[in-house]
Amino acid sequence: MAPMAERDDLEVLRHSTAHVMAQAVCDLWPGAKYAIGPPIEDGFYYDFELPEQLTPEDLPRIEARMREIVEAEQPFNHEEVPRQEALERFADQPYKLEIIEGVEEAEGAGGDTVSVYRNDGWQDLCLGPHVESTGKLGAFKLLSVAGAYWRGDERRQQLQRVYGTAWPTEEELADYLHRREEAEKRDHRKVGPALDLFSFPDELGAGLAVWHPKGGRLVRQLGDFVREIHVARGYELVTTPHVARSGLWETSGHLEKYAGNMYPPMHDEAGDYYVKPMNCPFHVLIYRSRTRSYRDLPLRLSELGTVYRHEKAGTLHGLLRIRGLSMDDAHIFCTPDQLIDEVLAVFDLTLEVFRVFGFEEPRIELSTKPGEAIGDEAMWARATEALRGALDKSGMAYDVAEGEGAFYGPKVDFHFKDAIGRSWQLTTVQCDFALPERFELEFMGEDNQRHRPVMIHRAILGSLERFIAILIEHHAGAFPMWLAPEQVRVIPIATRHDGYAEKVADRLREAGLRVEVDESRETLGKKVRAAQLDKVPYALVVGDKEEEAGTVAVRDRAGTERRGVSLEEFVERAVGEAESKALESVLE
Ligand SMILES: [Zn+2]
Ligand SMILES: [Zn+2]
Repeated sequence: MAPMAERDDLEVLRHSTAHVMAQAVCDLWPGAKYAIGPPIEDGFYYDFELPEQLTPEDLPRIEARMREIVEAEQPFNHEEVPRQEALERFADQPYKLEIIEGVEEAEGAGGDTVSVYRNDGWQDLCLGPHVESTGKLGAFKLLSVAGAYWRGDERRQQLQRVYGTAWPTEEELADYLHRREEAEKRDHRKVGPALDLFSFPDELGAGLAVWHPKGGRLVRQLGDFVREIHVARGYELVTTPHVARSGLWETSGHLEKYAGNMYPPMHDEAGDYYVKPMNCPFHVLIYRSRTRSYRDLPLRLSELGTVYRHEKAGTLHGLLRIRGLSMDDAHIFCTPDQLIDEVLAVFDLTLEVFRVFGFEEPRIELSTKPGEAIGDEAMWARATEALRGALDKSGMAYDVAEGEGAFYGPKVDFHFKDAIGRSWQLTTVQCDFALPERFELEFMGEDNQRHRPVMIHRAILGSLERFIAILIEHHAGAFPMWLAPEQVRVIPIATRHDGYAEKVADRLREAGLRVEVDESRETLGKKVRAAQLDKVPYALVVGDKEEEAGTVAVRDRAGTERRGVSLEEFVERAVGEAESKALESVLE
């Protein structure tokens, strides 16, 4: 977490609102113990230990008390309090005492004195800053109550977490609440199972999904697209195993810097093995499998590699945050001279890929060296300069996020907005001088001398799982034709039309379309409705008239209907729509 002083105005506003919320809770529940209350994306939370269980009905009461505190316009006063005095002041607040005793810098308890903010009679340990006074809060709303463990540790005290949101104006608050409502309707954790795409069987363990046949079709479409576009751009497809001995992860630095995200090891007589959290070291070994010359470079190795990351159980979130994920991963090995052009080519590919999904105008961020890092300063400086150079050459605007890079190198991230205005971090491009050093990679230069190549790590979509979750929410389950697991459903009006329906379906399958026939004995109205609920792009209704004339009645998902369309005309249009990866229906 960045120190408070570096946070932007919105974070200050949200943290100040959290502060007032905690004050209100303490007023309403005397004896309340308050833990921590940081700003988060779109809002804030505060954790409490309270004598009773909060319910959503309590939120308006807390809000009402907050409004009284806002009206009182209490200034936030900063004090630097000697450690001993702070221990006395917070004597009845065990979580604050733990923070003071733990000398936690991020919470304002890092020095000889402790940073305390006080307004009226209420005080909190905190680095600040806050808005000037409680009268300067913006528009806010409390959203929900949830359980949370102190320090995120399930062996420790169970606390109650109150979530809220805060914005500078009422209008921005209303927009956000609308987006939130839309997001809830589109939640992939509901839409995905409703469309029979995937599930998370308990037997597998948390964060591990299985794809059902319809989800499998989606994964295949996306996977084929990814592989084809990479081959067309000069990448080689490679395949590597899911497990490797501990020595590999020692050399790569993963055991040193990334062990917290790895599954525990397995053992046999040869030693320890880890399932892979990343594909990089495997691709490095492919590079190193023979002598490379400058003529072999750039070497672009690509793999839809499934990796396993032991994310904390509390952070798992459907397909968005998962423990087994398939990255559209690639590693580019090149000479230092080729670096900027290779990075630029990755930027180009990114824009090309996302244009297909209708995602344009990315927000771009350059992230620099984090606290936990391998490699020396000079390496970091060279890598960061290369990315900066490529960004400047590309002419695209970008922000700098200090300290947000990967442990082995700085990175450039692309964020795209979805249909309801949410921003998603998708593409990552990382520049790495450290792994080639650690694995002693070499190539023979034109000068007949050995040189060290540079390595670019990059994923465009990120992972298929996460990207599919985003697509589900972006399209509210109504995928464009080329991705739709079921593209066409043929609906016979009566049993006597089953034969013709099958004939129509066969013709569509022959044309390469994904088709099903609804031969259930439901009414026509129900069958049409079912196709709509399943978000099938086209339902073809066939009865006597259609059979006689060799036509179909076409209904799209929006309910638009066209009768008497010749089967061949429909085939041609539907295939055209799928092959062109059109985002909208081409049928008028
Ligand atoms: Zn504070
Ligand atoms: Zn990598």
